[in-house]
Amino acid sequence: MLDCAIIGGGPAGLTAGLYATRGGLKHVTLFEMGLPGGQITQSSEIENYPGFFDHTKTGMDFMNTWQEQCFHFGLKHEMKKVERVAKTGEHFTIKLEGGERVEAKTAIVCTGSTPKRAGFKGEEEFFGRGVSTCATCDGFFYKDKPVSVLGGGDTALEEAIYLSGIVSDVYLIHRRDTFRAAPSTIERAKSKENIHFVLDSVVEEAIGDATGLQKVKVKNLKTNEEHILETTGLFVFVGHNVNNEVLKDEEGNFICDVNDWGQVIVDLSMRTSVEGLFAAGDLRIEAPKQVVCAAGDGATAALQVISLIQE
Ligand code: FAD
Ligand code: NAP
Repeated sequence: MLDCAIIGGGPAGLTAGLYATRGGLKHVTLFEMGLPGGQITQSSEIENYPGFFDHTKTGMDFMNTWQEQCFHFGLKHEMKKVERVAKTGEHFTIKLEGGERVEAKTAIVCTGSTPKRAGFKGEEEFFGRGVSTCATCDGFFYKDKPVSVLGGGDTALEEAIYLSGIVSDVYLIHRRDTFRAAPSTIERAKSKENIHFVLDSVVEEAIGDATGLQKVKVKNLKTNEEHILETTGLFVFVGHNVNNEVLKDEEGNFICDVNDWGQVIVDLSMRTSVEGLFAAGDLRIEAPKQVVCAAGDGATAALQVISLIQE
């Protein structure tokens, strides 16, 4: 029986593992379907993690040392996909791909979320080289330069407002002429002089070269006219998939409380509505979707697990 099963090996899961093992728990296993590291390993650079400031290092380099540190203190890693977490009596059953089952006294779910792709030409080619899904991470690279933003929901408008304080101009491209975002957010965006609305329009193509994105081809859906935005940054905010499948039972119902968007409801200690079950990182409500925050969540959850086991 494990003291704690950690599902997902991004910044939240690895930090939970570090704190749980250093905190004295002997039987802690991290189930990660790939190599540990999480989403940030897709990034060519990270410059907002305090204490780490090295432009020659990629997100992968950054996360490699996290694994080493965790394994040094006794965290075990199984490269397995978790299909389901179920509460059976007092304990949890972790059902792995292939049918294997592992019993655990507590579980910390850290499976993250995945930004959706819009599907335009060049999106994958220039992802991480001009096309981004994170304004907090990459906005500063475009200081005093123009950028494009795609989407018309709360995230797109809030991030456009955030970017408007850093960059020279924001071209907000949205496929309709009305927004999904909250009215107050729309008003705030409209009040920014450097946010320019490109409505009834979609991104046709991200165009660039070996150095990265150079411009964005936009098409007006009403007139079919195309034009070019000379921006080397394109931020795509067309929704997120929360990786919450492991928290569904056989009938497809969530075993703990989630909000309307499938984000796991937790308290300030990362406790879910189920005793002994914690959620940390990008899949929880109100997640700032930053490495430093996910790591903090993981530490918080692990400290709670230690108290629970000691009780
Ligand atoms: P994730 O990092 O998403 O990790 C979740 C892990 O769970 C994954 O490794 C996944 O394989 C695993 N998993 C999922 N489902 C299962 C399952 N069923 N079974 C087993 N394993 C599973 N943040 C910053 O602070 N600064 C930046 O500069 C920055 N840049 C970014 C650049 C890019 C390109 C991207 C995509 C994100 C960036 N972020 C940045 C955001 C940051 O990466 C995330 O906020 C952070 O990684 C979230 O951590 P997490 O542990 O919650 O989840
Ligand atoms: P969202 O509400 O689903 O909005 C996605 C936006 O992207 C929509 O405007 C949609 O256009 C557009 N879009 C989707 N696919 C596209 C494509 N392929 N090409 C071009 N455009 C595309 O996602 P979100 O903004 O990330 O928000 C998710 C949820 O979190 C929402 O319920 C939101 O209210 C909530 N949220 C709340 C806050 C807050 O309360 N402060 C902040 C952020 C998010 P259409 O409008 O035409 O469909």
